[in-house]
Amino acid sequence: MEFMGMKKMGLHWKILLGMTFGVLVGLLMANLEGGKELVQNWIKPFGSIFINSLKLIAVPLILASLIKGVSDLKDISKLSKMGGRTIGIYITTTIISVSVGLILVNLIKPGTAISETTRLEMVENYSGDTNKYKESAKKQLESGPLQALEDLVPDNIFGAASDNRNMLQVIFFAIFFGLGLILIPKKKSKPVKKFFDGLNEVILKMIDVIMLCAPFGVFALLAALVVESPSLDLFEALGWYSFTVVLGLTLMIVVYSAMVFGFTRKRPDFLMKGISPAQLLAFSTSSSAATLPVTMERVTDHLGVHEEVSSFVLPIGATINMDGTSLYQAVAAVFIAQAFGMNLDFGVQLGIIITATLASIGSAAVPGAGMVMLVIVLGQAGIPEAGLALIFAVDRPLDMCRTVVNVTGDAAVSMLVAKSMGKLESNT
Ligand code: ASP
Repeated sequence: MEFMGMKKMGLHWKILLGMTFGVLVGLLMANLEGGKELVQNWIKPFGSIFINSLKLIAVPLILASLIKGVSDLKDISKLSKMGGRTIGIYITTTIISVSVGLILVNLIKPGTAISETTRLEMVENYSGDTNKYKESAKKQLESGPLQALEDLVPDNIFGAASDNRNMLQVIFFAIFFGLGLILIPKKKSKPVKKFFDGLNEVILKMIDVIMLCAPFGVFALLAALVVESPSLDLFEALGWYSFTVVLGLTLMIVVYSAMVFGFTRKRPDFLMKGISPAQLLAFSTSSSAATLPVTMERVTDHLGVHEEVSSFVLPIGATINMDGTSLYQAVAAVFIAQAFGMNLDFGVQLGIIITATLASIGSAAVPGAGMVMLVIVLGQAGIPEAGLALIFAVDRPLDMCRTVVNVTGDAAVSMLVAKSMGKLESNT
């Protein structure tokens, strides 16, 4: 990384540079004959390798850091205190974000900008894709009321650890294991703890190494995304809708900054500067799970959150706290209703707050997951699911933006929890 004087440049600048080049190369190649194939064959694989290397770290990271974090707590009352606060603040921020989304979409009314012909055209064009999403959502709906709880407990830890979608199960195992470590005599637990401490260090180093490649990774990801994106006129029809989502997401960043300042006196620029590389990565990968290793590193090393708090709060946040996703689901649901000429009364909108909160908890931290769960929100509110077709074209860019908010929310909440537990460094 020493070429072109890049060594001194901040990581977020390097990543930003990579992203810009990626978009430029993508645009150029999209207009050249054979350019698309060239990018797909020769550039895109490097993006996939980069994302894979991040995902590769996620399960071992959760295991090592959470076991270390929980066993560092030394007693169980501390753990339940931290757990209660974490879940409480996560749910509060999610409800705030759904409400922000609902207020904006009711004020701006983006759905009224879609003409009848555009609506019919889009429903026609995307009906195949819509069905795919409906299928996955149906499977989720068919399960009983306690299914989510049942799913939390894996019957085989190696099975659970072999699929990144089972992150909550791995978290469950790690907390349980950490508890076991607290409960056995110190003499016995010491070598085990030492092992996990060391393992944790190794994994953090691996993340450092991966991050050296981040600028190149995001370059490849964005170049591929640009050459593969649908035509621009669709985006135009959805301009107001996208504007509403992005405005809401921006407001959420303001809400986090205010919360962090209010409770910890840390200024917004401190929060943003500390977390920006993770935000840029969230934007490029559209996955909170893939971003988790970097979020952990930034929050611990740059935002002053003690590791015992960050290693507990962040993996849980990456899987259950998705404020950007819940905001988007609320806006999208009402937008579709508006486009179909439906009027949603207060009761239905209240229902959307509840279902969008639950749906965002249930969404996996991977690209496009929010859209699957949106089907459930639509179903509950009685909004036609065919309307998914309307928002399809812009889902990926909005997914990138909402993932940034998902990750920022986790980081902000970890600072609040750390502060409340007396575990926030004051001089960072
Ligand atoms: N891509 C989002 C995330 O990983 C989830 C979603 O909204 O689709 O955080």
